[in-house]
Amino acid sequence: MSWSLILLAMGLLVLGCERRVVGEGSGPVASGEGGEPKVVRSEEEWRKVLSPEQYRVLRQKGTERAFTGEYDHTFAPGTYECAACGNELFTSDTKFNSGCGWPAFYAAKAGDRVTLTPDYSHGMTRVEVTCARCGSHLGHIFNDAPDQPTGQRYCINSVSLKFVPAGGEALKHKE
Ligand code: FE
Repeated sequence: MSWSLILLAMGLLVLGCERRVVGEGSGPVASGEGGEPKVVRSEEEWRKVLSPEQYRVLRQKGTERAFTGEYDHTFAPGTYECAACGNELFTSDTKFNSGCGWPAFYAAKAGDRVTLTPDYSHGMTRVEVTCARCGSHLGHIFNDAPDQPTGQRYCINSVSLKFVPAGGEALKHKE
């Protein structure tokens, strides 16, 4: 198979996963209104504490390639923290296999842990999910999981997360 065909197939997969979006006024209310991120670093500082791939996704709103992330098929009990600041964002209880190639959760650990913001980049209408504590990009949320309790799918980059197994040690921060 030629590379162009492979790329086309990957593109269709992504489009297939992102065809439905969260409409305005539906789902959790954006929690970041009126509140600035509580962890503020300069971009130079972020570059020092994050890997190049983490920096690209978390601070430059990048997306890891589908099916390449560390936690796509992780279903062990535990907590998922923000890889940038350690904010506890999701738990394994709400994680499910969406088949889209990125970790999927039907709910955040608590509504105020994430901020939801309309995102019109790349010619699409989506809702971006960022960490409410440090403002880092996590992924997007879609209303396309009717088989899940909330009907919603938080589509989150593995590289934006740090998995802490149940009973494990919390992420130590470089401060
Ligand atoms: Fe964070």
